[in-house]
Amino acid sequence: MKNTKYVFVTGGVTSSLGKGIIAASLAKLLQERGYSVTIQKLDPYINIDPGTLNPYEHGECYVTDDGAETDLDLGHYERFLNIPTSQANNVTTGRIYQSVINKERKGEFLGKTVQVIPHITDEIKHRIQILGKTGDYDIVITEIGGTVGDIESLPYVEAVRQMQWELGEDNAIVIHLTLVPYLAAAGELKTKPTQHSVKMLMQSGVSPNILVCRCEQEINDSIKRKLALFCNVKKQDVIQSLDAETIYDVPNLMFKEGLDYVVLDKLNLSTRKQPKLKAWNNFVQKHKNPTSTVEIGLIGKYVELHDSYKSITEAFIHAGATNETKVNVRWIHSEELTPENAASKLEGLNGVLVAPGFGERGIEGKIAAVQMARENNIPFFGICLGMQMAVIEYSRNVLNLAAANSTEMAENLEHPVINLMEEQKEVTEKGGTMRLGAWDCKISKDSKVFEAYNAEMISERHRHRYEFNNAYLTQIEAAGMKATGVNPKTGLVEIVEIPTHPWFVGVQYHPEYKSTVLNPHPLFVDFIKAAKTQAENN
Ligand code: GLN
Repeated sequence: MKNTKYVFVTGGVTSSLGKGIIAASLAKLLQERGYSVTIQKLDPYINIDPGTLNPYEHGECYVTDDGAETDLDLGHYERFLNIPTSQANNVTTGRIYQSVINKERKGEFLGKTVQVIPHITDEIKHRIQILGKTGDYDIVITEIGGTVGDIESLPYVEAVRQMQWELGEDNAIVIHLTLVPYLAAAGELKTKPTQHSVKMLMQSGVSPNILVCRCEQEINDSIKRKLALFCNVKKQDVIQSLDAETIYDVPNLMFKEGLDYVVLDKLNLSTRKQPKLKAWNNFVQKHKNPTSTVEIGLIGKYVELHDSYKSITEAFIHAGATNETKVNVRWIHSEELTPENAASKLEGLNGVLVAPGFGERGIEGKIAAVQMARENNIPFFGICLGMQMAVIEYSRNVLNLAAANSTEMAENLEHPVINLMEEQKEVTEKGGTMRLGAWDCKISKDSKVFEAYNAEMISERHRHRYEFNNAYLTQIEAAGMKATGVNPKTGLVEIVEIPTHPWFVGVQYHPEYKSTVLNPHPLFVDFIKAAKTQAENN
C-alpha cells in the first residue's frame, strides 16, 4: 500500500493555458523517475459527463476502457503516460451533486441539512481520494477545470484547502498555472494578472506552492523574483512555460525548468533517479525530422473546431513519427462536400479519413468522400460513423441498393444496412446509454487488419448506437466488401474491408482513443504507411 501524495493543478487569469498538458508532462517526468502516477480531471459543470455535449462546446468526448465518456484531457493523460484511465479519472459537478442527492434520498444524512460545505466538499474529497486509496499510485495529480474565481470552482478550491490542511503540505501541494502576458507596445512581460489570480486563490485560503507561468518571452530573474515576492513562493518555484513547438516538447521543457524536481522536493520524495525519456525523445526526434509528407483529408462536420477530433490528429502524429512522415491534415467540412465537387475537394490527397459523428447533417458529403476514395484507390479509413458511411456507399453504388441508409438518418427504410442495435431499442435516456467502452473483436487471419495488428483477438473502445445490419452480410460480402472483424459473442460486425482496394478499412470502434506516444495505434500506422505508398506512386 502506497502513501499516496496529491498534486493539485489550478488555473488562473484565463482558460486554455494548457493545464492538461502541464499535468500530463509533470506526470510523465515523475513516471520516468520511477513513480507510479495517475491524473484526474475535475470539471466544474453540471452535465454528469461530456457525453451529451456538442463537440463545439467542449471538443472531443474521450472514452475509456470502462466506458466512461470523459473530458478530452484524459486523452492527453493516456497518450503521455501510456496507462489507461477510468471513470474515476474524470468527475464533474453534476456527478458530485448526483451522488450527494442520491444519498440524501436514501436518508444517509440522518436528518441533517445537506449543504455545499461539508457535503459537496466531502464528496469532492472522496472522489479525489478514490484513486489514492487504490494503493496503486505514489502520486495523484488532480487538475481542477476552469479558472480560480469562477463561482462554480469555489467548492473545489475549498476541497483542496481542506485536503492540504488535513494531509499537510508535504502530502498535498498546489501548482497554479497562470499567464504572464507580453505587452509588445511596452516591450514588457506583465506580472499583475498573476498577482491578482494568486490573491484570488489566497482569499479562498489556498496558497500556491508552485507557479507555472505561460509566456511568449523568457521570464528573466528579476521578474521571477518579483513574482515570487508578491505571490509568496520561492524564486525556484516560479517555473516558466514558454510556448512550445509541439505539446510533446513540454515534458523536456518542464524538466529543464525543474518542475518535477521542485514537486518532489516539496513532497519529500527522492529526486535521485533522473528521468531519461529515452523512448519519448526517440519519438520526438522522429516527429520533428520527417523524411516525407502525406496529406490526409479529414471529413467531418465539426472541422471548424479541431479539438473535436483531438485523438484522431494526435494518432496521426504518433503514426507519422513511426513512418517518419509528416501528416498534413486537410480539414474538409462534410456539409460542403457533394458528389459534384468531391473530385476537386479531395484532389491530391494521399488518404481519406471519414470521422465519427451523429445525426444526418453532412452524411451525403461523407458518402461522396467514401466513393471518391474507393473508386480512385485512395487509402480510406472510416471510423464509427465513417465505417457506417462506407457500408452505405457500397450498398448504394456497388450493390445498387439506391435506398440504402442508416435508420439513424431516416425511418421506414427499404434497405436499413445500418440499424439500431437490439439492446438500444428500449433506451430512452441519452446520457451514458450508448454501446460504450472496451469490447472484444475477432479478426480474420486473411485480412489487412490482421497484418496491422498481428493479432487475432483485439479489444477496442466503442461509442455508438447503430450497427452493421447482419441481414445484409451475405450480399455485401458476395459483392466484395468483407467483414474481417466481428464481436465473438454477439456477432456484431466491427471491421469491414475491401481486399481489392490498396487500403480500405472501416471500423465500428474508435482506434484513436488507444493511440499513445509509446504505442502508436497499428491501424493508424498502417493507414499512414499506405498513404505514403500512395504518395510515392503518384
Ligand atoms: N451515430 C453513429 C451511431 O450512433 C456513429 C457514432 C460515432 O461515430 N461515434 O452508431
